[in-house]
Amino acid sequence: MYVIPAPAQPALPVAGETAQFPVRRIFCVGRNYAEHIREMGNDTREPPFFFTKPADALVAGDARIPFPPATSDLHHEAELVVAIGRGGQDIAPGDALDHVWGYAAGNDLTRRDLQAQAKSMRRPWDMAKAFDNSAICGPLHPVSRVGHPATGRITARVNGELRQDGDLSEMIWPVADVIAHLSGLVALAPGDLIYTGTPAGVGALSRGDRCTVEIEGLGAVTTEFA
Ligand code: MN
Repeated sequence: MYVIPAPAQPALPVAGETAQFPVRRIFCVGRNYAEHIREMGNDTREPPFFFTKPADALVAGDARIPFPPATSDLHHEAELVVAIGRGGQDIAPGDALDHVWGYAAGNDLTRRDLQAQAKSMRRPWDMAKAFDNSAICGPLHPVSRVGHPATGRITARVNGELRQDGDLSEMIWPVADVIAHLSGLVALAPGDLIYTGTPAGVGALSRGDRCTVEIEGLGAVTTEFA
């Protein structure tokens, strides 16, 4: 019994199934593609670092969402999303992929102007990254059907125009290393999602835009901004 109604369980659709994947926490890698690191003016040799979004920031599948408040520089970030099916701490890179349940195409929406301000003032990124509807994710594809994609084209298109065009093989820290690093910082648990970073070409979105992130073999997710 609760004194107010319990919040709904955020969940992702699974391609070809009616049962959904319940989402527990959302972790994101800060920088993971060399060209994007260079376009943001940073050094490519740093170890991965992480930030989080609340689970109820999730936008599951294709959707029309309100244009986020408090920004005049909303950016798309096309990303491979990893869904954790088995938890663990201090996971070795060689065991890490056994903890993955599935993969999806996602979009780590970012209020770039608020992020730039936070960086310059040495403040947290939360309001730049963890706002309502900021974690877009397409249907999950189980490992049992797609395996562990180490290569594959990843794109973001805005109103049909190609903006980001990379390949999963360009990740500085592959999925297994990301899981190994992250599980040394927190105990991973079933239901956790990890956004694995974005290739170069991030850019601004406007009201009325349609943004589609697509990953070879994992389908697409389209978001319309009202
Ligand atoms: Mn990102």
